[in-house]
Amino acid sequence: MPEGPSIVILKEEAAKFVGQVVREVGGNSRQDIQRMAGQRVRAIRSWGKHFLVQFDGFSLRVHFMLFGRYRVDALKENASPRLSLRFDNGELNLYACSVQFIEGELDDVYDWGGDVMADAWDPKQARSKLKLRPEMLAADALLEQDIFAGVGNIIKNEVLWRIRVHPESTIGALPPRKLGELIAQAREYSFDFLAWKKAFVLKKHYQVHTRSTCPRDGHRITWRKQLGEKRRRAFYCDACQALYRGESDVVPAATIERSKPTKKVASKAVGKVAPKKAPGKTGAKKVATVTKARRNPAAGKSSKPAARTSRTAKLATDAPPPRARARDAAGRDHSRR
Ligand SMILES: [Zn+2]
Repeated sequence: MPEGPSIVILKEEAAKFVGQVVREVGGNSRQDIQRMAGQRVRAIRSWGKHFLVQFDGFSLRVHFMLFGRYRVDALKENASPRLSLRFDNGELNLYACSVQFIEGELDDVYDWGGDVMADAWDPKQARSKLKLRPEMLAADALLEQDIFAGVGNIIKNEVLWRIRVHPESTIGALPPRKLGELIAQAREYSFDFLAWKKAFVLKKHYQVHTRSTCPRDGHRITWRKQLGEKRRRAFYCDACQALYRGESDVVPAATIERSKPTKKVASKAVGKVAPKKAPGKTGAKKVATVTKARRNPAAGKSSKPAARTSRTAKLATDAPPPRARARDAAGRDHSRR
């Protein structure tokens, strides 16, 4: 899926159409795309994953969803464009994307300060928005387009690895410094992504995304098919990405692994304890609470036999709704659904 930086690249490639008149419109979109015929492009902009072509009085909004693609001055093989715009100086072809029109001024619709790649990016505003949602997982927070427009799943995985934060950490439990790093790296990594993508070397810079070994410590990367409310793929290192939960639960999982059970909750501890019924030591209560909340009947995997290794234990509790813990507190009991 094109993340924010990819849309910035498209914006740059399509910049030559600014000031040009649309000579011909084609494509299988069911929107009234012919309204663009004969119109002059006033600006080409982007907001997060939205690609925007501004005309007089209205704008075209393109979202590439999961499988959208584009071609400038070329056609994609074996594919029918959702939308084709032909100009005197070239053409723009968009595939498998969502096409909509926005009436009026874009400035009335978009908060440019929420786009991690925009000059107007406002980190203070991001921090304020995050503070309102302390129960949100770090992984979900980064994918929240209302806060970090443009951040996609690759960026999410890489940013969390960079700042050494476990994806299931809650925003409210992150120390202010870590929260600051998360906000700063959402932008910083996006620009690294942009530079690498332009140089066709993005994938080789992946540190955890689709990787199997942590480049920092050689630990095996944990992979989860779906994580958090956004249910997106997660890759992270249990050894160097600390899980922050609750008031003072801050422990790199590796520390937990070496030490006796404590009150602190780390993913390893949770994973190992999860299949057992009564982990009875100090901290057992807390761990058990999390474990219970982690059981997701919908995932249908919680009834698997006790896992021996932390990796299998993780898979056994795959796709839990970790926010359930916070929700339980709010009265919605997910664990007994
Ligand atoms: Zn690591």
